[in-house]
Amino acid sequence: GNAPEKKDVILRIDNVSKRFDATLAVDSVSLDIYKGEIFALLGGSGSGKSTLLRMLAGFEKPTSGRIILEGQDITSLPPYERPINMMFQSYALFPHMSVEKNIAFGLKQDGLPRAEIADRVAEMLRLVHMSQYARRKPHQLSGGQRQRVALARSLAKRPKMLLLDEPMGALDKKLRTEMQLEVVDILENVGVTCMLVTHDQEEAMTMANRIGIMDSGWIVQTGAPKDIYETP
Ligand code: ADP
Ligand code: ADP
Repeated sequence: GNAPEKKDVILRIDNVSKRFDATLAVDSVSLDIYKGEIFALLGGSGSGKSTLLRMLAGFEKPTSGRIILEGQDITSLPPYERPINMMFQSYALFPHMSVEKNIAFGLKQDGLPRAEIADRVAEMLRLVHMSQYARRKPHQLSGGQRQRVALARSLAKRPKMLLLDEPMGALDKKLRTEMQLEVVDILENVGVTCMLVTHDQEEAMTMANRIGIMDSGWIVQTGAPKDIYETP
């Protein structure tokens, strides 16, 4: 992929399909993601949202098609070599590690100097308003606080893109609305490009700048939230 990219396209999904035996989970999806946007993939269960997201993260390899990040073909790169991070629905925090150790984990693995790790962890804690909880363990936190830590951990490496798999899935309904606004606020503050996956129309409307409706492995429509639901 040496062709010049349109200036503000960060990620190009080019004719990507994924087949599991008889199931065509993702069917020839082409989609451009723009720098700094929060894009929501919205669709029912089994529509292919997670499979598409997992291919962007590198956990699944496309059966065909290409994934281009800032002009570089990353289709065959393993997850840890991609400047793309994923926040899981279950948060996947390490239960025996403190909040600060959870956030530092990936940075340590990357071999960042200690002082820089400390700075980065402090910055992330401030970003998600969790500075006073640095020494707590995940089980000593509320659901919303755990989500803030997971977000901090997934942003600590300064990924070019953040993928969020059903970001509010582990929260009860009341907390969900509150956290949607808070998470968007944090993401916009950082300016990171995001793709989130949800089956919740309201969540997509609240959090995203742009929505793609997914059905049977296809993206059947994309548009701004206000354009998607205008009844003709
Ligand atoms: P969604 O995230 O929208 O619920 P998925 O991407 O999880 O949809 O699934 C899309 C389709 O692919 C479904 O029919 C699902 O059963 C199938 N599928 C997903 N992952 C696998 C897998 N690892 N093996 C076989 N089939 C799978
Ligand atoms: P669920 O949506 O059912 O709560 P998760 O979002 O935690 O599940 O995980 C979705 C998929 O990603 C699962 O197949 C799981 O094995 C995988 N997974 C979860 N955490 C990680 C991780 N840190 N690295 C790689 N794969 C993971």
